[in-house]
Order: sequence, then structure tokens, then C-alpha cells
Amino acid sequence: MKPAKLSGLSIAIDGPAGAGKSTTAKMLARELRIVYVDSGAMYRAVAWKCNEDAIPLNDPERIAAEAAQISIEFIPSRSENEPQRIVADGIDITNEIRTPEMSRLASTVSVIPAVREALVAKQRALGQAGAVVMEGRDIGTVVLPDADVKIFLTASIDNRAQRRTLELRQKGDATATLDSVRAEIAERDRRDMTRAVSPLRAADDAVTLNNDSMTAREVVEFILDLCAKKTAQQDIER
Ligand code: C5P
Repeated sequence: MKPAKLSGLSIAIDGPAGAGKSTTAKMLARELRIVYVDSGAMYRAVAWKCNEDAIPLNDPERIAAEAAQISIEFIPSRSENEPQRIVADGIDITNEIRTPEMSRLASTVSVIPAVREALVAKQRALGQAGAVVMEGRDIGTVVLPDADVKIFLTASIDNRAQRRTLELRQKGDATATLDSVRAEIAERDRRDMTRAVSPLRAADDAVTLNNDSMTAREVVEFILDLCAKKTAQQDIER
């Protein structure tokens, strides 16, 4: 099926840290020419802002106020090699939010219900018009429960830690070791899966995909196939 035919779909990708959600979502967005929303970057942006403003982590009200007020913009990449840029309150924070410290802080602020409420509202606004691929932890369950295609992407903790360590090293973080990254990912998964509000889980109607022995291209092809099936089904129902 031609990508143009699939370009009106909304696609939700959830899963644990390091499962390849961003790589997959970026490739799909480029191929289908649809909007890519990295919801994790929004939690990271709130974490960054709280850090900048020296807001203590034990002050949920002030953290929630930051989440409600912050402006977050996604500037689409102009070429394949250039990342999408994240701008928060007018400042480009694309690189700053990718450190292990920001991962930890993002996962800590994401537990606060009012923070989630504020960011889910922003995410729904971005996904409102369809033609979007959004990735995170609660996209299929909470943010876009009516998404056309829902994927729960996962992989073993060892593979996820290996990929993330490589990524951090390539970015110049010489301190990233496999053990430290594995521990950080395990701790984040635990926090994401056990929080009271919108814990990480597969939506009942999501397709779970373990990509331990798949390439990024194979994952994308698998999802494109699901998109084609969904579109064919929608055509029949029309
Ligand atoms: O996806 P990423 O690793 O950038 O997300 C950072 C953190 O933000 C996650 O560990 C999780 O705690 C939180 N998050 C979330 N809900 C989402 C996306 C991210 O709670 N939809």
C-alpha cells in the first residue's frame, strides 16, 4: 500500500526504556510524512526546567506548576542525520535532556499526577488531528486511546542496556558503563511500571513486539504492515 494512503493514521508506540521506540517512531514519521511526538522529551523538559529553577523534588505542587506553564516545541529535523529539536520556554534543550541524570529526574517528576495531567493535555492537542506517531509509556492506554495502531515495543534488559550504553558513548559520555546503564534502566522501568497513575503497560488492543532479534527496518516494516491492514479494514467498514 502506498504510504500516502497510510498518512492519516495515528500510531501509538509504548514500551520500556531503550526498546527502540524513538528510532522506530522517527523512521515511521519520515516515511509516512506524519508528525512525530516524543512524549518522553516533554517529561524531560519539565525535569530540566525544575532543575534550572532549583525546585526541590519533594515539592510536587511547584513541579506541577512548572509542567502547567512550560511551553514545549518540537522543531522537525530537516534531514535524516539531524535530530528533531526540543525547545522549552524558548531555549533549545535537545542535548541537555539526554543525560542519565535527566532520565532519572524525568522518571521522578512523571510520577506526580498533576504533571501527567498537564502533559497529557499538551500531548492530546498535538495528536488531535491524527497523522501522528507518538511514543512513550501511556500513549495507547491514556493519551490516544483511540489510536489506529498501537504497539508495545520491548526487548530484553540486556539488549536495551547495550543499545543505550552505545548511544551515550557515541554522544561522548565516557562515564556510561553497561552496568550503570542497566541499573538506571531497571530502576526507571520499576518506577514507570509501579506508579499509581498511568503505569507503563500494554494497552489491551496493542500488538506486543519483542525486537531482540529484529533490525530497526524490520520493526518499521512490521508496523507499516499493521497500518496497511488497519487502513484496509477501515475502507471495508466505510
Ligand atoms: O522515553 P524517555 O526515556 O525519554 O522518557 C523519560 C521518562 O519520562 C520515562 O522514564 C518515564 O518516567 C517518563 N515518561 C512517562 N510517560 C510517557 C513518556 C515518558 O511517564 N508517556
